[in-house]
Amino acid sequence: MINIPKGTKDVLPFESYKWHYVERIARETADLYCLNEIRTPTFEHTELFLRGVGDTTDIVNKEMYTFLDKGERSITLKPEGTAGVARSFIENGLFNNAMPLKMYYITPVFRYENPQKGRLREHHQFGVEFFGASSFEADAEIIMLALSLLRRLGLDELTLHLNSIGCGKCRREYNKALFDYLKSHIDGMCKTCQDRLERNPMRILDCKEERCKEICRSAPRTLDYLCDDCRAHFEGLKRCLDTCGVKYVVDPDIVRGLDYYTGTVFEIVSTRIGSQGTVCGGGRYNNLVEELGGQSLPAVGFGMGMERLLMVMENANAVIPKPKPVKVYFAAMGEQPRLAAFGLVQKLRENGVFAEFDHMERSFKAQFKYANKIFAEYVAILGDDELAAGAAKIKCMADGFETSVKLDELVDYFAD
Ligand code: ATP
Ligand code: MG
Repeated sequence: MINIPKGTKDVLPFESYKWHYVERIARETADLYCLNEIRTPTFEHTELFLRGVGDTTDIVNKEMYTFLDKGERSITLKPEGTAGVARSFIENGLFNNAMPLKMYYITPVFRYENPQKGRLREHHQFGVEFFGASSFEADAEIIMLALSLLRRLGLDELTLHLNSIGCGKCRREYNKALFDYLKSHIDGMCKTCQDRLERNPMRILDCKEERCKEICRSAPRTLDYLCDDCRAHFEGLKRCLDTCGVKYVVDPDIVRGLDYYTGTVFEIVSTRIGSQGTVCGGGRYNNLVEELGGQSLPAVGFGMGMERLLMVMENANAVIPKPKPVKVYFAAMGEQPRLAAFGLVQKLRENGVFAEFDHMERSFKAQFKYANKIFAEYVAILGDDELAAGAAKIKCMADGFETSVKLDELVDYFAD
């Protein structure tokens, strides 16, 4: 038997309605906030992520699915959603539109990780990106969008963690202080972090190794190094959230695992589950578009892990509406009645009625059992006698009520 690749998951026919529900509410929330969907390819040139995400990040160093295609080009399956959107924005000259450009996507994301609960090699993200706005209100709005979506999905016990990691200006002084601190602790750090020190000391703050985490606990914090503009921006964001009655914790430990972030960074964490409780992560990335060859253009966004979302919803016993059941199931016996039933089922479907046919040539009894199993609301019985009389016997499965309905009146009978 051939098994599913490690770290991937099937969505089975009986559970896909949960995905449809989450996707529908995500799209509806995006509509309310006046966003349009953008769809970009599942794979891109590797170079995009090297430059966009950063070649000292875990994602680029360890987690990318990279291969040479038949034309010897280095191709990578998306390890995140933002870089592709930024590429498309530049390539399609989307900066010629009125700003801001508010976009969302639902996309598979591939990371070669150690699979565990809530950590997959292929997962899916609902992502949001605002291009062109530098205001703190834009940051606040995407956070409100994320929280609003989570609330609509029935989630509670969520904590919003906020931080600012500063712009290039504040980062220079901060990086120096951080470098000096980390340098004095270099012997206690893991090999990867020792290598990172010269190239990108901030990445060390994101290391998952306990000994590095311990060292980072006393490291200098970005919030203490913010320039006046970054400080004012962060205060403005907090005021917006206060106005909306949103609670948050300022969490200096959040630095995010991708290089493109500047200023605001945030995570939304479910307090119900442990380390995989982060359902949403995002922030501002004012340099990404320029770094990818576009003009200098501010942007802010987030990615929300859909598998984690569903996990947390399950844990919170959030209600997911079941799909509409079959309205009428045809139990037909005999060659002519089956033929008539087949035609009637198609006609009902064309008129918007969820109708179902017996494909297994079961006995009447077995067909009734099946109708029960699929929660059909009605069964239409069609044997030789009913066909001769030109009317089907209709049984309501909830109360057992039976009646006879002429075959050419079935559509009227069942149409809502
Ligand atoms: P983590 O710290 O949990 O590794 P991350 O910082 O790598 O998360 P992001 O790159 O910000 O995650 O991705 C946004 C969201 O996507 C995360 O908050 C999480 O909900 C989800 N996510 C990230 N990696 C995975 C994965 N391997 N499997 C399932 N969901 C994931
Ligand atoms: Mg990660």
